[in-house]
Amino acid sequence: MDLSVVIPLYNEEESLKELNDWIVRVMQSNHFSYEIVYVDDGSGDSSWKVIEDMSAGNPAIKGIRFRRNYGKSAALDEGFKAAKGDVVITMDADLQDSPEEIPELYRMISEDGYDIVSGWKKKRHDPITKTIPSKFYNWTTRRLSGIKLHDFNCGLKAYKLEVVKSIEVYGEMHRYIPVIARWAGYRNVGEKVVQHQKRKYGVTKFGIDRFIKGYLDLLSITFVSKFGQRPMHLFGTFGSLTFFAGFVIAAYLTYTKFFGHDYTRMTDRPLFYFGLLAMILGTQLFMTGFIADLISRNSTTNKTYQIKSKLNVKSEKED
Ligand code: UDP
Ligand code: MG
Repeated sequence: MDLSVVIPLYNEEESLKELNDWIVRVMQSNHFSYEIVYVDDGSGDSSWKVIEDMSAGNPAIKGIRFRRNYGKSAALDEGFKAAKGDVVITMDADLQDSPEEIPELYRMISEDGYDIVSGWKKKRHDPITKTIPSKFYNWTTRRLSGIKLHDFNCGLKAYKLEVVKSIEVYGEMHRYIPVIARWAGYRNVGEKVVQHQKRKYGVTKFGIDRFIKGYLDLLSITFVSKFGQRPMHLFGTFGSLTFFAGFVIAAYLTYTKFFGHDYTRMTDRPLFYFGLLAMILGTQLFMTGFIADLISRNSTTNKTYQIKSKLNVKSEKED
């Protein structure tokens, strides 16, 4: 199969039919073999009914329905598990992304050899309250990740099949999929300017809290990518430095007490409390590092390495 189109959706009943017809039209005129995987993220409207009706008339239309709303990342992750096409396209269900981009995205993955091609909504049709923070996030993510993309959170993206099979999109990490893919060793990331429309029906499914969550996820993604394997390297460094500063202060105070003919009580000197605090904080940071290290050692995700190819080596299962 050439293409899997994965579409996460939450209460998008008005757009589904129109979107589906459009995608099918594009697929047929380009003679692609395809599937469309709708992931209904716990919609409360008639979205699932629409999907059922559409799939009755076309076996290429598939659906997964969550029991409740888990979020866009979970929906994408589940869609990725189901996808079978050589190239996997993700797009939003609200008709903001255009299916006309699919053939070129497909070509960039299958012929130009990109692992991921990310859409870039160069001319955006969104309110200014969204476009300005978005610029800031994209700039920060570019700086932190070293990936030169203008628009990390574009819903329209294309992937090689093996990429989506080896990444895990959890929490609200769909905003940073190119970063996650890079950890997994997929570095060939391309970008394509895509058409963007105003939302035609319904309203956006993300509120103001998207900025707070986006910011926290950014911190988390930076931390995990730098120190996920060895948290002790971060906590241990800060812990040791802080403890050392506290120790020097305490040593200095002790010295002046005994040899400096300084008869003020130690507890009357503000520096004493600072030194005490630094030693306690340092120890705690150090302990946090130990615990984080233990947890990371026991977690399974660290043990599944992405193997690029094998030569005359079979895993136990294949034997
Ligand atoms: N979406 C989803 N689960 C959610 C929120 C959104 O599957 O909890 C889907 C939504 O239906 C749409 C896509 O994710 O297909 C992008 O959402 P939206 O258009 O509301 O985001 P925006 O364009 O405002 O960033
Ligand atoms: Mg949208």
